[in-house]
Amino acid sequence: MTIAVKNINKRFGDFVALDNVSLDFPQGELTALLGPSGCGKTTLLRCIAGLEHPDSGSVLLDGEDASDRHVRERQVGFVFQHYALFKHMTVFENVAFGLRVKPRKERPSEEQIRRKVKDLLELVQLDWLADRYPPQLSGGQRQRIALARALAVEPRVLLLDEPFGALDAKVRKELRRWLRRLHDELHVTSIFVTHDQEEALEVADRVVLMNKGHVEQLGSPDEVYNHPASPFVYGFLGNVNVFHGRVHEGVLASDGVEFDVEGHGSGKGAAYIRPHDLEVERYEPGAEGIVVKLRRAHAIGPLAQLDLERTDNAQIIEATISNERYIALNLKDGETLVVRPKRLRVFVDEGAHA
Ligand code: ATP
Repeated sequence: MTIAVKNINKRFGDFVALDNVSLDFPQGELTALLGPSGCGKTTLLRCIAGLEHPDSGSVLLDGEDASDRHVRERQVGFVFQHYALFKHMTVFENVAFGLRVKPRKERPSEEQIRRKVKDLLELVQLDWLADRYPPQLSGGQRQRIALARALAVEPRVLLLDEPFGALDAKVRKELRRWLRRLHDELHVTSIFVTHDQEEALEVADRVVLMNKGHVEQLGSPDEVYNHPASPFVYGFLGNVNVFHGRVHEGVLASDGVEFDVEGHGSGKGAAYIRPHDLEVERYEPGAEGIVVKLRRAHAIGPLAQLDLERTDNAQIIEATISNERYIALNLKDGETLVVRPKRLRVFVDEGAHA
Protein backbone atom coordinates (compact mmCIF):
# COMPACT_ATOMS: atom_id res chain seq x y z
CA MET A 1 0.00 0.00 0.00
CA THR A 2 1.26 3.52 -0.74
CA ILE A 3 0.76 6.25 1.82
CA ALA A 4 0.66 9.97 1.14
CA VAL A 5 0.05 12.80 3.54
CA LYS A 6 -0.92 16.13 2.05
CA ASN A 7 -0.63 19.48 3.82
CA ILE A 8 -1.35 18.09 7.26
CA ASN A 9 -1.69 20.56 10.10
CA LYS A 10 -2.23 19.61 13.71
CA ARG A 11 -2.35 21.84 16.76
CA PHE A 12 -2.71 21.04 20.42
CA GLY A 13 -4.08 24.30 21.82
CA ASP A 14 -1.68 26.98 20.61
CA PHE A 15 1.08 24.47 20.00
CA VAL A 16 1.74 23.57 16.38
CA ALA A 17 2.64 19.87 16.35
CA LEU A 18 2.50 19.43 12.55
CA ASP A 19 3.02 22.37 10.25
CA ASN A 20 1.83 21.72 6.70
CA VAL A 21 3.49 18.34 6.29
CA SER A 22 3.38 16.63 2.88
CA LEU A 23 5.11 13.29 2.25
CA ASP A 24 4.88 10.22 0.04
CA PHE A 25 5.68 6.73 1.28
CA PRO A 26 6.13 4.36 -1.67
CA GLN A 27 4.90 0.75 -1.63
CA GLY A 28 7.24 -1.63 0.15
CA GLU A 29 9.68 0.94 1.49
CA LEU A 30 10.95 1.25 5.01
CA THR A 31 10.98 4.91 6.04
CA ALA A 32 12.39 6.34 9.26
CA LEU A 33 10.82 9.43 10.85
CA LEU A 34 13.75 10.98 12.65
CA GLY A 35 14.01 14.10 14.77
CA PRO A 36 14.42 15.48 18.26
CA SER A 37 11.92 14.89 21.02
CA GLY A 38 8.67 16.76 20.46
CA CYS A 39 9.17 17.45 16.74
CA GLY A 40 5.90 15.70 15.80
CA LYS A 41 7.02 12.21 14.72
CA THR A 42 4.52 10.31 16.81
CA THR A 43 1.72 12.73 15.96
CA LEU A 44 2.36 12.15 12.24
CA LEU A 45 2.37 8.38 12.75
CA ARG A 46 -0.89 8.59 14.71
CA CYS A 47 -2.50 10.67 11.96
CA ILE A 48 -1.56 8.02 9.39
CA ALA A 49 -2.97 5.31 11.62
CA GLY A 50 -6.23 7.19 12.19
CA LEU A 51 -5.63 7.47 15.96
CA GLU A 52 -5.36 11.24 15.61
CA HIS A 53 -7.26 13.54 13.28
CA PRO A 54 -5.44 16.37 11.53
CA ASP A 55 -7.01 19.84 11.73
CA SER A 56 -6.57 20.13 7.98
CA GLY A 57 -4.95 18.18 5.17
CA SER A 58 -5.44 14.56 4.22
CA VAL A 59 -4.00 11.07 4.45
CA LEU A 60 -4.23 9.00 1.27
CA LEU A 61 -3.94 5.22 1.36
CA ASP A 62 -3.36 3.77 -2.10
CA GLY A 63 -4.35 7.16 -3.47
CA GLU A 64 -7.71 7.24 -1.69
CA ASP A 65 -8.61 9.76 0.99
CA ALA A 66 -8.71 7.82 4.26
CA SER A 67 -9.96 10.67 6.46
CA ASP A 68 -13.28 8.95 7.13
CA ARG A 69 -11.81 5.51 7.50
CA HIS A 70 -11.69 4.10 11.00
CA VAL A 71 -8.39 2.77 12.40
CA ARG A 72 -9.59 -0.80 11.87
CA GLU A 73 -10.40 -0.15 8.22
CA ARG A 74 -6.95 1.22 7.47
CA GLN A 75 -5.27 -2.19 7.67
CA VAL A 76 -2.36 -0.95 9.72
CA GLY A 77 -0.26 -2.93 12.16
CA PHE A 78 1.34 -1.19 15.14
CA VAL A 79 4.28 -1.77 17.36
CA PHE A 80 4.97 0.68 20.16
CA GLN A 81 7.89 1.22 22.49
CA HIS A 82 6.11 -0.33 25.46
CA TYR A 83 3.86 -2.72 23.72
CA ALA A 84 1.45 -4.14 26.22
CA LEU A 85 1.23 -7.81 25.45
CA PHE A 86 -1.55 -9.50 27.38
CA LYS A 87 0.23 -10.79 30.46
CA HIS A 88 -2.28 -13.49 31.24
CA MET A 89 -2.11 -14.95 27.70
CA THR A 90 0.63 -17.17 26.33
CA VAL A 91 2.82 -15.97 23.49
CA PHE A 92 0.76 -18.14 21.16
CA GLU A 93 -2.51 -16.59 22.31
CA ASN A 94 -1.09 -13.07 22.09
CA VAL A 95 -0.17 -13.59 18.44
CA ALA A 96 -3.50 -15.30 17.72
CA PHE A 97 -5.49 -12.48 19.32
CA GLY A 98 -6.02 -10.33 16.22
CA LEU A 99 -7.29 -13.35 14.30
CA ARG A 100 -9.69 -14.46 17.02
CA VAL A 101 -11.39 -11.05 17.31
CA LYS A 102 -12.09 -10.81 13.58
CA PRO A 103 -15.76 -10.67 12.57
CA ARG A 104 -17.20 -14.17 12.33
CA LYS A 105 -17.30 -14.13 8.52
CA GLU A 106 -13.57 -13.39 8.20
CA ARG A 107 -12.40 -15.42 11.16
CA PRO A 108 -10.04 -18.26 10.20
CA SER A 109 -10.65 -21.77 11.50
CA GLU A 110 -8.86 -23.00 14.63
CA GLU A 111 -6.55 -25.07 12.41
CA GLN A 112 -5.74 -22.05 10.20
CA ILE A 113 -5.02 -19.91 13.27
CA ARG A 114 -2.71 -22.57 14.66
CA ARG A 115 -0.77 -22.79 11.41
CA LYS A 116 -0.59 -19.03 10.93
CA VAL A 117 0.68 -18.36 14.48
CA LYS A 118 3.26 -21.10 14.10
CA ASP A 119 4.49 -19.52 10.84
CA LEU A 120 4.68 -16.08 12.40
CA LEU A 121 6.57 -17.34 15.43
CA GLU A 122 9.01 -19.03 13.08
CA LEU A 123 9.34 -15.80 11.13
CA VAL A 124 10.36 -13.90 14.26
CA GLN A 125 12.44 -16.94 15.30
CA LEU A 126 10.66 -17.47 18.60
CA ASP A 127 8.54 -20.54 17.95
CA TRP A 128 10.16 -22.22 20.94
CA LEU A 129 8.54 -19.63 23.24
CA ALA A 130 4.93 -20.29 22.19
CA ASP A 131 3.78 -21.53 25.61
CA ARG A 132 5.47 -18.90 27.74
CA TYR A 133 3.82 -15.83 29.24
CA PRO A 134 5.10 -12.27 28.50
CA PRO A 135 6.69 -11.71 31.95
CA GLN A 136 8.92 -14.71 31.20
CA LEU A 137 10.42 -13.03 28.12
CA SER A 138 13.28 -10.59 27.64
CA GLY A 139 12.52 -7.09 26.34
CA GLY A 140 13.85 -7.94 22.89
CA GLN A 141 11.76 -11.12 22.72
CA ARG A 142 8.67 -9.16 23.74
CA GLN A 143 9.17 -6.69 20.91
CA ARG A 144 9.55 -9.51 18.41
CA ILE A 145 6.33 -11.07 19.69
CA ALA A 146 4.66 -7.66 19.44
CA LEU A 147 5.76 -7.54 15.82
CA ALA A 148 4.46 -11.06 15.14
CA ARG A 149 1.17 -10.02 16.70
CA ALA A 150 0.98 -6.90 14.51
CA LEU A 151 1.72 -9.00 11.41
CA ALA A 152 -0.91 -11.64 12.19
CA VAL A 153 -3.74 -9.65 10.63
CA GLU A 154 -1.69 -9.12 7.45
CA PRO A 155 -1.49 -5.36 7.68
CA ARG A 156 -0.78 -3.48 4.49
CA VAL A 157 1.11 -0.88 6.48
CA LEU A 158 3.34 -1.38 9.50
CA LEU A 159 3.81 1.56 11.88
CA LEU A 160 6.48 1.28 14.54
CA ASP A 161 6.87 3.93 17.22
CA GLU A 162 10.34 3.68 18.78
CA PRO A 163 9.95 -0.10 18.73
CA PHE A 164 13.34 -0.72 20.30
CA GLY A 165 13.53 2.43 22.40
CA ALA A 166 13.29 0.71 25.75
CA LEU A 167 16.00 -1.87 25.06
CA ASP A 168 19.69 -1.75 25.82
CA ALA A 169 22.13 -0.72 23.09
CA LYS A 170 23.33 -4.18 22.11
CA VAL A 171 19.86 -5.72 21.80
CA ARG A 172 18.69 -2.65 19.91
CA LYS A 173 21.44 -3.09 17.35
CA GLU A 174 20.62 -6.75 16.85
CA LEU A 175 16.92 -6.07 16.53
CA ARG A 176 17.26 -3.28 14.01
CA ARG A 177 19.28 -5.51 11.68
CA TRP A 178 16.72 -8.20 12.22
CA LEU A 179 13.90 -5.75 11.39
CA ARG A 180 15.67 -4.85 8.15
CA ARG A 181 15.95 -8.52 7.13
CA LEU A 182 12.33 -9.14 8.05
CA HIS A 183 11.26 -6.17 5.99
CA ASP A 184 13.24 -7.42 3.00
CA GLU A 185 11.33 -10.67 3.27
CA LEU A 186 7.85 -9.18 3.65
CA HIS A 187 7.98 -5.86 1.75
CA VAL A 188 5.21 -4.30 3.81
CA THR A 189 5.21 -0.50 3.53
CA SER A 190 6.64 0.46 6.91
CA ILE A 191 7.29 3.64 8.84
CA PHE A 192 9.23 3.71 12.06
CA VAL A 193 9.79 6.55 14.46
CA THR A 194 13.17 7.00 16.08
CA HIS A 195 15.23 9.78 17.58
CA ASP A 196 18.40 7.73 17.06
CA GLN A 197 20.18 8.89 13.91
CA GLU A 198 22.37 5.80 13.67
CA GLU A 199 19.29 3.58 13.77
CA ALA A 200 17.58 5.60 11.00
CA LEU A 201 20.66 5.69 8.77
CA GLU A 202 21.38 2.00 9.17
CA VAL A 203 17.91 0.53 8.76
CA ALA A 204 15.80 2.76 6.52
CA ASP A 205 15.47 3.05 2.75
CA ARG A 206 14.57 6.67 3.26
CA VAL A 207 14.85 9.08 6.14
CA VAL A 208 12.46 11.92 6.91
CA LEU A 209 14.12 14.48 9.14
CA MET A 210 11.61 16.45 11.18
CA ASN A 211 12.08 19.57 13.25
CA LYS A 212 9.43 21.59 15.10
CA GLY A 213 6.53 20.09 13.21
CA HIS A 214 7.90 20.41 9.71
CA VAL A 215 9.98 18.30 7.35
CA GLU A 216 13.58 19.51 7.07
CA GLN A 217 14.69 16.91 4.56
CA LEU A 218 13.63 13.67 2.94
CA GLY A 219 16.19 11.43 1.29
CA SER A 220 18.18 8.22 1.30
CA PRO A 221 20.50 7.76 4.30
CA ASP A 222 23.40 8.72 2.02
CA GLU A 223 21.66 11.88 0.82
CA VAL A 224 20.72 13.18 4.22
CA TYR A 225 24.09 12.35 5.76
CA ASN A 226 26.34 13.55 2.95
CA HIS A 227 24.18 16.33 1.53
CA PRO A 228 22.31 17.87 4.45
CA ALA A 229 19.78 20.44 3.27
CA SER A 230 20.05 22.70 6.32
CA PRO A 231 22.28 23.48 9.29
CA PHE A 232 19.78 21.65 11.47
CA VAL A 233 20.23 18.41 9.48
CA TYR A 234 24.00 18.81 9.61
CA GLY A 235 23.96 19.13 13.35
CA PHE A 236 21.44 16.36 13.93
CA LEU A 237 23.17 13.71 11.82
CA GLY A 238 26.57 13.38 13.40
CA ASN A 239 29.20 15.69 14.77
CA VAL A 240 30.15 18.82 12.91
CA ASN A 241 32.52 21.76 13.34
CA VAL A 242 30.83 25.07 12.68
CA PHE A 243 32.64 28.29 11.77
CA HIS A 244 30.34 31.30 11.88
CA GLY A 245 31.27 34.47 10.07
CA ARG A 246 30.56 36.62 7.07
CA VAL A 247 30.67 35.74 3.39
CA HIS A 248 31.90 38.34 0.95
CA GLU A 249 33.28 37.91 -2.58
CA GLY A 250 33.67 34.16 -2.34
CA VAL A 251 35.37 34.12 1.04
CA LEU A 252 33.97 33.27 4.44
CA ALA A 253 35.85 35.16 7.13
CA SER A 254 35.38 33.59 10.54
CA ASP A 255 37.31 34.89 13.50
CA GLY A 256 40.80 34.80 12.04
CA VAL A 257 40.35 32.04 9.42
CA GLU A 258 39.17 32.26 5.84
CA PHE A 259 37.47 29.64 3.69
CA ASP A 260 37.00 29.70 -0.07
CA VAL A 261 33.30 29.57 -0.71
CA GLU A 262 32.88 30.43 -4.39
CA GLY A 263 29.38 30.69 -5.70
CA HIS A 264 27.64 32.01 -2.61
CA GLY A 265 26.10 35.43 -2.18
CA SER A 266 27.09 37.82 0.58
CA GLY A 267 25.80 37.85 4.09
CA LYS A 268 26.07 36.22 7.45
CA GLY A 269 27.10 32.61 6.99
CA ALA A 270 28.72 29.55 8.46
CA ALA A 271 30.95 26.74 7.25
CA TYR A 272 30.03 23.21 8.34
CA ILE A 273 32.84 20.66 8.37
CA ARG A 274 32.51 17.03 9.45
CA PRO A 275 35.36 15.72 11.65
CA HIS A 276 36.45 13.24 8.94
CA ASP A 277 36.60 16.01 6.34
CA LEU A 278 39.58 17.64 8.07
CA GLU A 279 43.17 17.01 7.11
CA VAL A 280 45.57 16.99 10.07
CA GLU A 281 49.29 17.69 9.87
CA ARG A 282 52.11 18.52 12.18
CA TYR A 283 52.66 22.29 12.37
CA GLU A 284 55.52 23.78 10.34
CA PRO A 285 56.22 27.53 10.32
CA GLY A 286 54.32 29.10 7.42
CA ALA A 287 51.90 26.16 7.08
CA GLU A 288 48.47 27.08 5.79
CA GLY A 289 45.43 26.20 7.81
CA ILE A 290 44.06 26.51 11.31
CA VAL A 291 46.67 26.16 14.02
CA VAL A 292 45.58 23.96 16.93
CA LYS A 293 46.92 22.05 19.89
CA LEU A 294 46.04 18.43 20.53
CA ARG A 295 43.97 18.19 23.73
CA ARG A 296 42.94 14.56 23.63
CA ALA A 297 43.15 11.63 21.26
CA HIS A 298 40.93 8.61 21.40
CA ALA A 299 41.62 5.68 19.11
CA ILE A 300 38.84 3.12 18.65
CA GLY A 301 39.17 0.43 15.99
CA PRO A 302 40.17 1.83 12.62
CA LEU A 303 39.63 5.49 13.58
CA ALA A 304 41.20 8.03 15.88
CA GLN A 305 39.21 10.95 17.19
CA LEU A 306 41.14 14.11 18.02
CA ASP A 307 39.98 16.99 20.21
CA LEU A 308 41.88 20.03 19.05
CA GLU A 309 41.95 23.54 20.49
CA ARG A 310 42.61 26.56 18.33
CA THR A 311 45.61 28.50 19.54
CA ASP A 312 44.08 31.88 18.69
CA ASN A 313 40.59 31.66 20.17
CA ALA A 314 40.26 28.38 22.12
CA GLN A 315 37.53 26.98 19.82
CA ILE A 316 37.44 23.19 20.10
CA ILE A 317 37.65 21.39 16.77
CA GLU A 318 36.95 17.72 16.36
CA ALA A 319 38.86 15.73 13.73
CA THR A 320 38.65 12.06 12.82
CA ILE A 321 41.59 10.42 11.06
CA SER A 322 42.51 6.83 10.33
CA ASN A 323 44.25 4.97 13.08
CA GLU A 324 47.12 4.31 10.67
CA ARG A 325 47.58 8.01 10.12
CA TYR A 326 47.35 8.61 13.86
CA ILE A 327 50.08 6.08 14.54
CA ALA A 328 52.24 7.49 11.72
CA LEU A 329 51.92 11.02 13.13
CA ASN A 330 52.98 9.75 16.55
CA LEU A 331 51.17 12.58 18.33
CA LYS A 332 51.55 13.71 21.92
CA ASP A 333 49.09 15.71 23.98
CA GLY A 334 49.70 19.44 23.66
CA GLU A 335 51.42 19.07 20.29
CA THR A 336 50.87 21.87 17.76
CA LEU A 337 49.12 20.81 14.58
CA VAL A 338 47.49 22.41 11.60
CA VAL A 339 44.12 21.41 10.12
CA ARG A 340 42.57 22.16 6.73
CA PRO A 341 39.14 21.26 5.39
CA LYS A 342 39.06 18.72 2.55
CA ARG A 343 35.36 19.34 2.15
CA LEU A 344 32.95 21.83 3.63
CA ARG A 345 29.46 23.13 3.19
CA VAL A 346 28.46 26.76 3.53
CA PHE A 347 25.06 28.10 4.45
CA VAL A 348 24.62 31.81 3.78
CA ASP A 349 21.83 33.86 5.19
CA GLU A 350 21.82 36.30 2.30
CA GLY A 351 20.89 39.81 3.22
CA ALA A 352 21.68 39.21 6.91
CA HIS A 353 24.62 41.20 8.20
CA ALA A 354 27.12 39.81 10.61
P1 ATP B 1 9.20 12.03 21.18
O1 ATP B 1 10.42 11.60 20.44
O2 ATP B 1 9.52 12.73 22.48
O3 ATP B 1 8.14 10.99 21.31
P2 ATP B 1 7.74 13.22 18.97
O4 ATP B 1 8.56 13.85 17.91
O5 ATP B 1 7.18 11.89 18.69
O6 ATP B 1 8.57 13.24 20.31
P3 ATP B 1 5.03 14.06 19.37
O7 ATP B 1 4.70 12.99 20.34
O8 ATP B 1 4.50 13.97 18.00
O9 ATP B 1 6.61 14.26 19.30
O10 ATP B 1 4.58 15.43 20.01
C1 ATP B 1 4.77 16.66 19.37
C2 ATP B 1 4.39 17.78 20.32
O11 ATP B 1 2.98 17.79 20.50
C3 ATP B 1 5.00 17.65 21.70
O12 ATP B 1 5.44 18.91 22.13
C4 ATP B 1 3.88 17.12 22.55
O13 ATP B 1 4.00 17.60 23.87
C5 ATP B 1 2.65 17.70 21.87
N1 ATP B 1 1.48 16.79 22.03
C6 ATP B 1 1.38 15.54 21.54
N2 ATP B 1 0.17 15.01 21.84
C7 ATP B 1 -0.48 15.94 22.55
C8 ATP B 1 -1.78 16.00 23.17
N3 ATP B 1 -2.63 14.97 23.08
N4 ATP B 1 -2.11 17.14 23.82
C9 ATP B 1 -1.26 18.18 23.89
N5 ATP B 1 -0.03 18.20 23.35
C10 ATP B 1 0.36 17.10 22.69
